This record gives sequence, C-alpha cells and structure tokens, in this order.
Amino acid sequence: MNCWTSLALNRLIASESWTRSFTNVSSWFLRMGFHIPPFNSVYHLHLHVQGLPYQSKFRAAHYPYRPGNNTRSKGLTWFAEVSQTIDILEKGKRVGVLPV
Ligand SMILES: [Zn+2]
Repeated sequence: MNCWTSLALNRLIASESWTRSFTNVSSWFLRMGFHIPPFNSVYHLHLHVQGLPYQSKFRAAHYPYRPGNNTRSKGLTWFAEVSQTIDILEKGKRVGVLPV
C-alpha cells in the first residue's frame, strides 16, 4: 500500500468514526459510501451519508448496497460503503464496480 492510499485510508476511518459519533445514529440507520466512477454524479471524491430506510425506490436504487462474501469485500454495484472501501484498500486492491 503506498503512502497516499494509507493516508486516504486513515482519513476514511477517521471520517466514518467522527460522523457516527457526531450523528449518534445506530449503524442500522446510517449508510456511508461512495459512488464508483463512471457512475459518479459529480467529478470529485465525495462521501454520501444517508439516513435509512430510503423513502423511495429510486433513491434506494441510486445507492445500491451489495455485500461481499467469504472472499470478496463487495458485490457487483456502483456504490461502495466506507467499510467495504476500507477493506478493499487494506487488501491492496482497487475499488471497482465488479465484485472485489
Ligand atoms: Zn455520489
């Protein structure tokens, strides 16, 4: 893992921890994550923090969570939760749309 990835990883962990403590909301009702290019809506890195459950199916479809399994951190999707992103980066891999 290079120093930029390590720095990004530490900031991710800190931002997730800070947001969860600031909002004082159970993780069951909070989703934090990133759109994966080319499915990003704006062209800079931004973190989505959303309260659950979604009120519309359109909104839920816009931020699809796909869990991983024993060998993969996430499934096929254009949205990665922070914990999935951290797990993938810690393995030295890249976050992509395909299962990683
Ligand atoms: Zn986005």
